[in-house]
Amino acid sequence: MAYELAPLPYDYAALEPFIDAQTMQLHHDKHHQTYITNVNAALANHQNLAAKSVDDLISDLNAVPEDIRTVVRNNGGGHSNHSMFWTIMGPANASGVGGNPTGAIADQIKADFGDFEAFKKTFNETTAKQFGSGWGWLVFQGGKLKVITTANQDSPLSQGLYPVLGNDVWEHAYYLKYQNKRPDYLAAWWNVVNWAEVNKRFEKAKK
Ligand code: MN
Repeated sequence: MAYELAPLPYDYAALEPFIDAQTMQLHHDKHHQTYITNVNAALANHQNLAAKSVDDLISDLNAVPEDIRTVVRNNGGGHSNHSMFWTIMGPANASGVGGNPTGAIADQIKADFGDFEAFKKTFNETTAKQFGSGWGWLVFQGGKLKVITTANQDSPLSQGLYPVLGNDVWEHAYYLKYQNKRPDYLAAWWNVVNWAEVNKRFEKAKK
């Protein structure tokens, strides 16, 4: 069964003014679709692998034949990462979006970083420094939240870590509105983080 692009759970313009509609449209319809098209092509003759969820697929890259492993890592990773990304965002005026974190993740952030401001500072500074294209992540390891980055479309799942949240710092995610100012994009992004969804992911990360 080939992977398919799920519709965005909100309008292209829903994340304005923090993420512009044109960026959302290109990012979802073109960039994400391309990752899906490419991973499907690579798996065309590997039905046993294509039957897995994309998260399961990239959680075990050793099960992928070497001749298609890099293509699967990049494009399966791209599909998984973006599928996560759309769902952990929402319109800034929606309930549970933006503002301070809520629920269990709020308590864990407080325990591990002191407060939300300190956490955001760590996340933004760490992710701003990711050289070239990649992602900033919040993962839960050994009972603690930790900020990490990955290059390209590498997923924490391939390291055995479930991403609680992640922000895309490929230039395609922010260049139209923020140009070279990645830190401004990182700072603005928290206004559209869907804490209800992040809490659901945190529950999974704890298992
Ligand atoms: Mn992207």
